[in-house]
Amino acid sequence: MGADPLTESLQRHFGWESFRPGQRPVVEALLAGRDCLAVLPTGAGKSLCFQLPALVRDGLVVVISPLVALMQDQVSQLQARGIPAACLHRGLEQGERRQLQQRLVSNRLRLLYLAPERAQAEATRQLLEEALDTGRLVALAVDEAHCISAWGHDFRPDYRRLGQLRALCPGVPLVALSATAAPQVRADIIRLLQLRRPLVQVRSARRANLSYTMRRRPADPLAEVVAAIGQARGAVLIYARTRRSVEQWAARLTAAGVEAIAYHAGMDPESRQLALRHFQEHPSPVLVATVAFGMGVDRPDVGLVLHLDLPASAEGYLQESGRAGRDGQPARCLVLFDPADRTSLGWAMRSAGQQLPADQRLLERHRLELAQQQLRRIEAVAEGEGCREQALLLAVGELSPPCGRCDNCLSAPSANDWAHQAAVLLSALEDRSGRDLRSLAEDLAGAHGNEEPRWAWLARRLVQEELISESDDGAQRLYLRPVGRSYLRDPWPLRWSA
Ligand code: ADP
Ligand code: ZN
Repeated sequence: MGADPLTESLQRHFGWESFRPGQRPVVEALLAGRDCLAVLPTGAGKSLCFQLPALVRDGLVVVISPLVALMQDQVSQLQARGIPAACLHRGLEQGERRQLQQRLVSNRLRLLYLAPERAQAEATRQLLEEALDTGRLVALAVDEAHCISAWGHDFRPDYRRLGQLRALCPGVPLVALSATAAPQVRADIIRLLQLRRPLVQVRSARRANLSYTMRRRPADPLAEVVAAIGQARGAVLIYARTRRSVEQWAARLTAAGVEAIAYHAGMDPESRQLALRHFQEHPSPVLVATVAFGMGVDRPDVGLVLHLDLPASAEGYLQESGRAGRDGQPARCLVLFDPADRTSLGWAMRSAGQQLPADQRLLERHRLELAQQQLRRIEAVAEGEGCREQALLLAVGELSPPCGRCDNCLSAPSANDWAHQAAVLLSALEDRSGRDLRSLAEDLAGAHGNEEPRWAWLARRLVQEELISESDDGAQRLYLRPVGRSYLRDPWPLRWSA
């Protein structure tokens, strides 16, 4: 029996038997001229959704993507399949640009990748108009579309201006793609890109073969990291927060007898290429990287994704941990965190924002508040007693039952009611507002027994529950929120195990 025409072109151009879940409706909508928002988990095959329409129509699809490395990667993958694709970025020389333009007008290009800042350039405008005039522009695609939203975990100001694409190419369908997009982010994407009655294709971020574990990081986690690597199958991906710690960890692991390679954006292109190749080709590579690594990396048998710090958000974490087990086989996701991580991450984010031009500062302040909120949420997942997967998915707006595979599901903790201690702590703050966490914990330990770290933990827990607010200068001064005040008048049970 012959396949339908769409499946046939999938087979002919890509050699794959059938569509993966979620792909076909998007391809069909684009071919019918309809806008789309496709929220498909990492590894689901989002790129195909905009690549195939170009081939079916013998036309051009223009793709906006945030990273040059990512674009070049996709371009070379397409070229390897004999599909004409190119990438327009700042680094291109005059001659190369002219050549590209010629291929475009003579319809010898199926996919053209653009960096977001190029999308506003006059030259790009002309290119798009030429493609429009010849009637060959099949669709526009905005990849990693969550970058447009200040609610997202990876906001990029350049993406804000992509709304103009719509006016530039009326009548050409636009598809926005992302791996994780909470409801507010989805709404931002639709509004800011001016999608018209889009087909919204959302598939769960739930990954039935991944099991999450989140643990306090011991003073020196080396032994624990080595043990986790030892138990993992296939490739291992380790995320550290700074370039310096990436290098230190790669060196420490290697010294401990585990061959580990570093990867971060500060390395020269050649070493990066080497690291990437090692990761793709070695039978069981161990790669230590910053979160900059991974977008577009496609190794199916990653058996362990290990975070050495608290991730910055649930959305980001789902994307990073989602690089494990793409082959569908069981894989582990381990986070080693410390209570100080939230404070130091918050600091790093604030100082990054201080270099921005004045007109972006207000947006930046808004973004920082959201970033702090996301940090509190992911810390609540890490310190919480409930199912990890359920809590992570809830944080990105998805309801699901407990997974039955994570550390918390497997250990079925016995809960204590912290209501009494919480009231003690809250009224201490009511008496004296603005105390710092450490001295408060010290005093409470002296006055009421229980160790100091336990009170510090409870204070953080109450910050996560938003009963207390915390100064954002890193000094961890604590203030009672209005909810905390009403808690004192009329408390409710706080059942946590610790
Ligand atoms: P995403 O962007 O959603 O993370 P990609 O577009 O990078 O995912 O695709 C992930 C992998 O799946 C790639 O290796 C791609 O070639 C492969 N792939 C995509 N669609 C199909 C399909 N229908 N059948 C088999 N493999 C596919
Ligand atoms: Zn669980």
